[in-house]
Amino acid sequence: MKAFEKNIRKVEPYVPGEQPQRKVIKLNTNENPYPPSPGVLAAMKELEQNMETLRLYPDPTADLLVSALADYYHVGKDQVFVGVGSDDVLAMCFLTFFNSEKPIFFPDITYSFYKVWADLYRIPYECKPLDEAFRIVKEDYYEENGGVIFPNPNAPTSLYENLDFVEDILKHNQDVIVIVDEAYIDFAGESALKLLDKYENLLIVQTFSKARSMAGMRIGYAIGSPLLIKYLNDAKYSFNSYTMNKTSLVYGVEAVKDKVYFEETIQKIVATRTWAAEEFRKLGFVFPEPAANFIFVSHPDYDAKELFEALKANDIYVRYWGSERIEQYLRVTIGTREEMEALFAFLKKYMKKC
Ligand SMILES: *Cc1c(COP(=O)(O)O)cnc(C)c1O
Repeated sequence: MKAFEKNIRKVEPYVPGEQPQRKVIKLNTNENPYPPSPGVLAAMKELEQNMETLRLYPDPTADLLVSALADYYHVGKDQVFVGVGSDDVLAMCFLTFFNSEKPIFFPDITYSFYKVWADLYRIPYECKPLDEAFRIVKEDYYEENGGVIFPNPNAPTSLYENLDFVEDILKHNQDVIVIVDEAYIDFAGESALKLLDKYENLLIVQTFSKARSMAGMRIGYAIGSPLLIKYLNDAKYSFNSYTMNKTSLVYGVEAVKDKVYFEETIQKIVATRTWAAEEFRKLGFVFPEPAANFIFVSHPDYDAKELFEALKANDIYVRYWGSERIEQYLRVTIGTREEMEALFAFLKKYMKKC
């Protein structure tokens, strides 16, 4: 190690899913298989004509998008914070809210970025093991802590917990910030938004990357009490005032406005998920009840890593981690019906051959 390396911040970064630059059946990063709302395309054409979009700084308050989200979710503008994907929002939340000497709590099997941010910001943390069925054990979160974060539905398990469950965690954690990462809530059930009036320490984080088909645009947001949103904005303006570019703001507003298209797309994915779950079951796969746009599957007779590699060799990409407790699991994003048919055609062939 060079002497100058001594004072360099060393981090073990998050490893994102592969983004192959050629056409494959891409079921590895939970993108939406359908395009964003047609209104986004119209806005794209319009923006293309306007160089001012590039010349000028964007609105630092991101007012257009904040207002659209506030209207959509029936909350005040002072209850919405936006950022460059929910990863940016979540990183800002870790920086802003998790400054206790007590450890923050999150599940052992969950979005692996939590651990990375905790390490990056030197936040102490404790991972609470999911039970045998991969469920969050809520009682584990009743102990004293420096904050709580969990996704609902959880990733990569795809399991959803109802609002009573979320509220039980909140009831026991009124002196710390509780973040519910709802990246997949639109595929699942009721959002914790309903609990906002009762819990000023609750923050809900959502994203345009999954249900709104805009992973490439990088838009995420948090909804919470005006007090929490104020603290988040103070941190943001101490970091980078112009996080959201003009294009994202304009496209984001178009996506939010088109509720009908949004709901149709979700229904299509949920229908494909129901059908795909049945197909997996028929082939002997086991999996927790899926509530997101992915299924977390394992097969008693086939090694997950071998299956992952065989799929990849046939241009079907799914996600495999090989980490503790989930060595024998693959996370498969719900694609279009056609993409899923190609996946099952391959699996049927492969499983007869082996
Ligand atoms: C995908 C995902 C995110 C991040 O999404 P962005 O693309 O950064 O908005 C956050 N949390 C969970 C659980 C996710 O699966």
